Amino acid sequence: MALIEAPKNFPTRLYINGEFVDAADGRTFDSINPSNEQVIAKVAMAGRKDLDHAMESARKAMGAWASLAPAKRSSLLWKVGDEIMKRRQEFAALEAMDSGKPYNECFNIDVPMTADHFKYFAGVLRSLQGETIPVNDGLFVYTLREPLGIVAGITPWNFPMMMAARKVAPALAAGNAIILKPANPTPLTAALMAECIHAAGIPAGVFALLNGKGSEVGQMIVEHPEIAAISFTGSTEVGVRMVRDAAPTLKKLTMELGGKSPNVVFADADLETAIKGAQAAIFYNKGEVCTAGSRLFVEAKVHDEVVEKLAARAGKMVGSDPLDDTCRWGPQNNKGQFDTTMKYIESGKKEGARLVAGGERMGDKGYYVKPTVFADVKPEMTIAREEIFGPVLAVQKFEAFEELVEKANSSVYGLAAGVWTKDVSKAHRYAKSIKAGAVWVNCYNWYDSAVPYGGYKQSGYGREMGLQALHALTQTKSVWVQL
Ligand code: NAP
Ligand code: MG
Repeated sequence: MALIEAPKNFPTRLYINGEFVDAADGRTFDSINPSNEQVIAKVAMAGRKDLDHAMESARKAMGAWASLAPAKRSSLLWKVGDEIMKRRQEFAALEAMDSGKPYNECFNIDVPMTADHFKYFAGVLRSLQGETIPVNDGLFVYTLREPLGIVAGITPWNFPMMMAARKVAPALAAGNAIILKPANPTPLTAALMAECIHAAGIPAGVFALLNGKGSEVGQMIVEHPEIAAISFTGSTEVGVRMVRDAAPTLKKLTMELGGKSPNVVFADADLETAIKGAQAAIFYNKGEVCTAGSRLFVEAKVHDEVVEKLAARAGKMVGSDPLDDTCRWGPQNNKGQFDTTMKYIESGKKEGARLVAGGERMGDKGYYVKPTVFADVKPEMTIAREEIFGPVLAVQKFEAFEELVEKANSSVYGLAAGVWTKDVSKAHRYAKSIKAGAVWVNCYNWYDSAVPYGGYKQSGYGREMGLQALHALTQTKSVWVQL
C-alpha cells in the first residue's frame, strides 16, 4: 500500500472571462472528503452576478469563436486534452479525495477518458459540414451547420471530470460558448479542468466555470433567456423540473437521467466470466453509475450457483482510503447518497428480499457501505423498481426468454442492459427486444467518446458522445439562391 499525497494547491475559484475569481458576493461552500467526512476546501459559490458576468463575456467572445477556422479550434481542443494528461496524477488524486473514487480508477479510466473527449471532438469537429440539396432547376440550395450560441452543462457528482468533459468538449467543438455548473459535492476537478482550458489558450469568455448550488445558480441557468441549450446529467426528478422550467425559453435539452438496468445471465454463459461481470456491473464506482446493472436476472438452472458465488465475491470486497493506490472500494460520494443507500437496504430487508451479502455500513468513519446482494427479489419490491445509485444488487430468477424480456423491460427507465450467453442469436434477439440506449453483450459498462450514449423512456432523451453530440449542439440553416 502506498498513500498518494493529497494535492494541496489546487484552484477553488470560479473561472469567468479568462480569469479565476471569487464569487461576486464572496460566498463559499465546503467540499467534503467522503472517506473521512472532513472539509477539503472552501469553494467559491456562484450567484446571479457571476452568471451575469459569465454571460456578458460569453456574448463578447462567441462570434470570434464560432468563426474561428475549424483547424484552429481543433488544435486548441487537442491541447486541452494534452494539458489534462500532463496533470494526470493531480487530477486523479483530487478526484479520489473529492468523490471517493479509488485513485487507481481515476488514474486509469477517468483522466484518460476525460482527455480523450477533448481529443475526439477536436478530431470530428472538422467533419461538421452542410450539404447541397438538389431542388428545382434554377435554384441552388445548401445548408450550414451553425452553433447554437451560449449553452450550459449541468453535471452530477458520480464521474465529475468525465461528465464535465462530456459537456464542454462537444459544445466548444461545435463553436458554442459554454457555462459549466458542476454538482455541489464534487467541484474540484472542474476547476483543474478550467486551468487546462486556460493553459491551452481557449479564448476568454468561451468557457466559464460556475460552481454553486443547483437550486440557485443552476436554476438561474435553466431560466436564462439567452442560454440556448442545456446538456444535463442527473436525476430524473431534477430533469423533469428542468424540462418544465426551461420550456418558457424553449431551450434545447439533452437529458441523461436515471436508470435501473437489467443484466441477464443465461445458463449457457461462461459462468465465471458472467459472475465477475455481474459483480463489476453493479459495484463499479460503488454502484454510483447511472448504467449500473442493478437488476440481475439469472436463468433458473444456474441461479443458486450464481447467487452463491456472487455473494462470496461481494463479501470479499474491502474498503480503504481512495488515495491508497491499492484501494478498490471507496465510500459513497456524499452523506445524502449514503443515507439513501442505507434506506433502500432497509426497505429490501423489510419487504422480504433475502440478504446474501453486505446489508450494512462498512466501518464507522466515512460513507462506506458493504457491497450488498439481495436474492429472491420480487418485481414489485422497491429495490427492484427504484434507482438506488449505490452498491445494492437485486437478483431475480427467470425460466423463459419471453418472461425475461417482459420483466427486464418492466421499468420506467431504459438506459442500459447487459446479457451473458454463448448463444449469438439469443444475444442479438435480446439486444433487439430490450428498451435501452445501450446493450452490452458478454461485457458491461464500456464507453467510448465516439459511441453515442443516452436513454430510452424516462432515462432521458438526446445523445451525448459521438457525432450525435456534435450535431445536437448545432442548428441547420438552409440557404436558397436563385441562379
Ligand atoms: P441531481 O440531484 O439531479 O443533480 C445533478 C445536477 O443538477 C447537479 O449539478 C445539481 O446541483 C443540479 N441541480 C439540482 N437542482 C437543480 C435545479 N433546480 N436547476 C438546475 N440544476 C439543478 O443528481 P445527482 O445527485 O448529482 O446525481 C445522481 C443522479 O444522476 C442519479 O439519479 C443518476 O442516475 C444520474 N446520472 C445519470 C447519468 C446518465 O448518463 N444518464 C450519469 C450519471 C448520473 P447541486 O449538486 O448543487 O444540487
Ligand atoms: Mg466532495
